[in-house]
Amino acid sequence: MGCRISSVVPVSKWTEEKVPSPTLKVAPQYIIEAPRPKTTPAAIHISTSKPKPPENTVHQPVKEEPPPPPEANPYDRQRTGSVATIIMENRPPNKVYYSTTFGSHVYKHRSSGRPFTIDTTRARSNRAVVAMCAERIGIEEVSETHDDKRPCDIYWHSVVYPDMNRVVSHPYSRVNKFPGMTELARKISLTHSIHSMQRLFPQEYEFYPKSWFLPAHLKEFEAFGSKQANQQRWYIVKPDEGAQGTGIYLVNHPSQLKDPLQRQLVQEYVADPLLMNDGLKFDFRVYGVIRSINPLSIYVAREGMARFCTEKYSRPNASNFENLYAHLTNYSLNKANDRYVHSTSLHDQIKGSKRLLSTVFHQLESRGLRTKKLWHDIKMILVKTVLAMLPEILLHYEHHFIDKPGPQCFQIIGFDVMIRENGEPILLEVNAAPSLTIDHQLISSADEPLYEETPLKVRSIVDEVIKVPLIRDTLLLVLNLMDQEYSSARESAIHSTTSSQLPDHTQDDLDTWRAKKKPHLSEIFPNRYGAHSFHLLFLDKAVYLFMQFVHLRASINISLGGLKQFVKKCNLTPVISSREIDLKAAEINFYLTGDQSKLGQGLPFHGFLKFLFYVSEKKFPKEPTLLAKMQKLNQFCDASLRHYGVRSARLRRAEVPTTDDDGPVELYMLPLRMRGKRRSRSSASTLPPKPRSDRNNNSNNNNNGLPRIEL
Ligand code: ADP
Repeated sequence: MGCRISSVVPVSKWTEEKVPSPTLKVAPQYIIEAPRPKTTPAAIHISTSKPKPPENTVHQPVKEEPPPPPEANPYDRQRTGSVATIIMENRPPNKVYYSTTFGSHVYKHRSSGRPFTIDTTRARSNRAVVAMCAERIGIEEVSETHDDKRPCDIYWHSVVYPDMNRVVSHPYSRVNKFPGMTELARKISLTHSIHSMQRLFPQEYEFYPKSWFLPAHLKEFEAFGSKQANQQRWYIVKPDEGAQGTGIYLVNHPSQLKDPLQRQLVQEYVADPLLMNDGLKFDFRVYGVIRSINPLSIYVAREGMARFCTEKYSRPNASNFENLYAHLTNYSLNKANDRYVHSTSLHDQIKGSKRLLSTVFHQLESRGLRTKKLWHDIKMILVKTVLAMLPEILLHYEHHFIDKPGPQCFQIIGFDVMIRENGEPILLEVNAAPSLTIDHQLISSADEPLYEETPLKVRSIVDEVIKVPLIRDTLLLVLNLMDQEYSSARESAIHSTTSSQLPDHTQDDLDTWRAKKKPHLSEIFPNRYGAHSFHLLFLDKAVYLFMQFVHLRASINISLGGLKQFVKKCNLTPVISSREIDLKAAEINFYLTGDQSKLGQGLPFHGFLKFLFYVSEKKFPKEPTLLAKMQKLNQFCDASLRHYGVRSARLRRAEVPTTDDDGPVELYMLPLRMRGKRRSRSSASTLPPKPRSDRNNNSNNNNNGLPRIEL
C-alpha cells in the first residue's frame, strides 16, 4: 500500500524556510498563489511580489479565469454530472492568502518592555509548530528549567498534566488546556451534555444524531433497533475512548453488536451525506477556540479542513458496510489506502483527500448550496455545543483550582461536522486535542518499503495553511494582541499603498492588503451569536445548586448524602422520599456509567440534572414542558435556600455588551474568581507582582472590558 503523491517536499526544513526581503515597505507576507493552469506540479509558489487584487476570493465563484485543465484523477471514472459542473467544482480558490507572520511586530509587555514568553516543553508533537508561530510574533521561548523563575505568559501542554497546578502557578499565566476537557469531549460525556440540552431545548439540539450509550442503554437500543428492523436503518458503533476511527463498525441490527457489554456509543448512521461529484463522502474539521470561560468567550477559525473518504460512497448494505474507506472520513485511516491523494500544492488540493474548507465551500457553492447559511449553522453548532459543555467545564475548573485563583485557560477544539444531502450540518464529535502538526506521513508500500523504520514525513500544505494562522492568532488572542496586530497591519498597508515609493499602487491593492489582514479567528460568543443563544445559558441555576451541595474540593460528583441534603434544604421531601432518592440515584448512576453496583463515586453534574428533571416533573406536573417545570423548580429551590440564608454568591449573571445590534448578552460567571477576590491560601505572593498593564491580559481575573462583578 502506498499513497499517491505528485511530488515530495521534505518537511525537515520547513521552519527555516525564508522568504526574500519584500520589496514593499510592509510587513513581510507569504502569499501562496494557486499556480496557474499548466504550471509544473512543483508544489507551492511563494511570492512576495506586489499582490494582485483578490478579484476572486476563496468563497466566490470565479468567472473570468479559465478553469484548470482536467488532470489525471483517481476518481475520474466515478464522477457523475455534466462536464460544466465538474469544471466548476474543480476550480481552485484563485488565491489563498496565507501569512505565517505579520512580520515587523515583536510584541512586548507594555510596562516592562520585556518580551512575552512561552513554554512549549510539554507540547510534544505540537512543539515545533507552536514554537515557530510564537517566534514569528516575537514571543520568546523558554524551557521549564530556565534560570529566570519568572512565570511564563503562555504554557502550551499536550495534555493536562497532573502537576499543572505547580507548573502553571501564576494567575496571570495562560495555559492551553482546561482541566477535564479531554474527558468532557469524549463521545459518551459529550452525548450526556447534549442529551440534557436536547431534553430542555429539543429543536435547538437536533444537530446531534440519536445515540445510545452501552451497556446502560442496551435495552433501549434493542427495542428501537428491532422496531426499525424493516427500515434498513444502520448504526455506527464507536468505542468511548476510541479515536482516529479505531474500533468503529456498522451494524443494522442490535444483534450484530460485537460486545454489547463494552463501554461504547451507538449512533444512528447518517446515511445521506452530501457527496462531491466524485462520489466521495467527506466531513469538515472546524476549529474553535475557547478563549476564556469566565466570562465565556468563543472564537471560530475562518479556515478549516475537509477530509475525504478514499472510496466511493453508497448507502450501507450487506456488501459494502465493511468498507471503512467509503464510510469513515478519518485521515489516519484513509492515508493507508492506495487511493489517498496527498496534495503538494494548493492547486492539487482541490482534488486531494484533504482540502481546505474554503475550497469545498467554493465547490459546494458552484453546485448551488447556500454556503453562507451553512457556515452560520456550523457556527451555531459550535456555540451550542460549548454551551452544553460549559457547566462541567466550570465545575472542573473550580475543582482543579479550588485553592488558587487559577490561570487563564484557553483551548483549541476541533469540531467534526458532516453535511447531509439537504445541506443540514450534523455534529459527529468534538476533539479536545486536535492535531496541530503540519506534515503528512508517507506510508510504506510493498514495492517501496523505504519508510518502514523511520516514517518519512512530508510537508502538508493544507495543514500548514490552516494550522499556522490558527496557532498564531490563538497566541495573539490570549495575549490580547489581536486588535493591535490587525489594526497596525491595516495601517501599515495603508501607509505602504499611499507611499510615494509605490506609485503604481491602486485602490485594489489597498483592498487586497485589507483582505489579507483579516484575522483568522473571529468571535462567535458573546459577540455575533450571543444574542441568538443566551436563552440556552439556562443551566447556571442548576450549576449553582449543585455547587452548594457538592464537596468540590474532593470531587466534582455529588454524593448520595449531598443529594439528600439538597432535597431537605430545598423543601422537597414531600416530593421524594429518602428511599426513592436511593433508587433514583442508583438508576441514574447506571444510566450514566453502566455500573450496576452502588453509587460509589456519586453523580456527576448531568446525573444531578437528570435528578432535577425527575423532581421537577413530580413537583410541577401541570407545566407544559420540561423547561417550564425546571424554571419553576429553580425558583422554588432559590426561595427555599434563601430561607436558610444561602445566597447565590458563586454564580452571578452579568450583562456583557456586544457590538451586535441585538444589544447586550447576559451570561453567568464565577464572581469569586473576579478581580483576584479569591485569594489563594497558599498565596501567590511569593511571585513577582505583575505590572498593572499586564494584568489586563487575564480574562479570568479581569474581564478585558467585560463587566466585573462585585460580590
Ligand atoms: P473517531 O474519534 O474514532 O474519529 P468519530 O466519531 O469521529 O470517531 O467517527 C469517525 C468517522 O466515522 C467520522 O469522521 C465520520 O466519517 C464517520 N461517522 C461517525 N459518526 C457517524 C454517523 N453518525 N453517521 C455517519 N458517519 C459517521
